[in-house]
Amino acid sequence: MIMQIENRRDKIQEFKKICQTHRLKVTPQRIAIYRELFNSDTHPAADTIYRIVKKEYTNISFDTVNRTLLTFAKIGIVDVVEIFGGAKRFDPNVTKHHHIHCTQCGKILDFYSRNYDNLAVPDEVYEQFQVVSKRVILKGICRECRQ
Ligand SMILES: [Zn+2]
Ligand SMILES: [Zn+2]
Repeated sequence: MIMQIENRRDKIQEFKKICQTHRLKVTPQRIAIYRELFNSDTHPAADTIYRIVKKEYTNISFDTVNRTLLTFAKIGIVDVVEIFGGAKRFDPNVTKHHHIHCTQCGKILDFYSRNYDNLAVPDEVYEQFQVVSKRVILKGICRECRQ
């Protein structure tokens, strides 16, 4: 179900290029933050990334990690996931995809569906909104939580 299609090295190269385009300095810390987000498939919160990156860069603060992730979101390298209350969650996958939320452990996984991509937006929505993106969000209980 989870597809991290591109390989890691390409992804880091692409990351560096986008940073340069936006005049964002590519520092080892920023690469580490992006790498850990990219390596995770559960859409982690800043706190989770902070705890991992801190092992390598012991002086890094939570604030720096959080601010960096928000900057990444601003320049479009990552997305902020739809969350209804609770900490912001980040998504390194900016291609078209859908989400399944586990209501027990809180992990969010990606999935792909042509059918969902092509869902028609109801007329009454179009009357009021210019729709800029569509995502189907499913909720359920993951395999680990059911065991
Ligand atoms: Zn779960
Ligand atoms: Zn996602």
